Amino acid sequence: MDISRWQHELREVIRAPGELLEKVGLQAEKLALSTPVSDSFPLKAPLSYLKRIRAGVADDPLLRQILPLADEDRDVAGYRTDPLDEITHTTTPGLIRKYPGRVLLITTSVCAIHCRYCFRRHYPYNENSPSRENWTAALDTIRNDSSIYEVILSGGDPLSLSDEKLDTLIQQLETIPHVRWLRIHTRIPVVLPSRMTDKLLQTITRSRFKLTMVIHANHPHEIENEVIETLQRLHQSGMQLLNQSVLLKGVNDQAPVLAELSHRLYTNHVLPYYLHMLDPVAGAAHFEVAEDQARDIHKQLQATLPGYLVPKLVRELPGESSKTLLG
Ligand code: SF4
Repeated sequence: MDISRWQHELREVIRAPGELLEKVGLQAEKLALSTPVSDSFPLKAPLSYLKRIRAGVADDPLLRQILPLADEDRDVAGYRTDPLDEITHTTTPGLIRKYPGRVLLITTSVCAIHCRYCFRRHYPYNENSPSRENWTAALDTIRNDSSIYEVILSGGDPLSLSDEKLDTLIQQLETIPHVRWLRIHTRIPVVLPSRMTDKLLQTITRSRFKLTMVIHANHPHEIENEVIETLQRLHQSGMQLLNQSVLLKGVNDQAPVLAELSHRLYTNHVLPYYLHMLDPVAGAAHFEVAEDQARDIHKQLQATLPGYLVPKLVRELPGESSKTLLG
């Protein structure tokens, strides 16, 4: 069977730290790498992402997002496996209910990349697996609650599903009359743009839903040629495009970097939406930016950018009915 370029790229993802470092011209001996007791969240990165990392630069902001460092192995007080209490809010397997009128559907455990700061890096996908039965239960829950007007496809990365599975899911959602809006949270247009085929675009745009895609870019170096071309096509298809970033120490914790990111996003039809404080997930404490510093960075953005290019600085607190604005 012929496989498409993106499927080939997914098969060829880099999983070994040594191979990654060789490709970016660095020596493993000079870096303190993680030696995890389990590999439940191993290194994973597509080659097309690696090409955007500067050769020989150990603190490259894109490399830092994917390289498992020894810092991950430390236990840090307050850093937990379920930092947002999502298990408590998972009322039906695969369905997370935190905010009124909206639900989040865990469609898959698979991502094209493993971001070291991911708040779902310990999420029990096995118990909330996106099997057909779980979708049925989740869809029944949505069907029986007419207050739900928006469904957010999340994961993992929902665009790592096959076109056929995604098509089936969207068609099933379409049969629920009170669901009017569909939102897709995905990092794939940024990290694996070859996945955004015409067929996929048709699959997600032909439904009756008002469609929003929230992409996830953290640094301007991530927005390169193929990503730019992809964002243009997404825009032409008529969907609303937003971006969310996580404020990460050593990656984007400087106002000029975030300002440049906002410029690149807007030039390519994407509005900066959220700048998230790091969720305190076990293994990611080395990415933490202090709240005072975050507010200061945000003030600098407000002073240099038009208001519509300043993302909202937010923290998600478990149990709150909305994100907490900090800026
Ligand atoms: S793509 Fe999203 S869900 Fe997947 S590891 Fe990165 S942040 Fe987590």
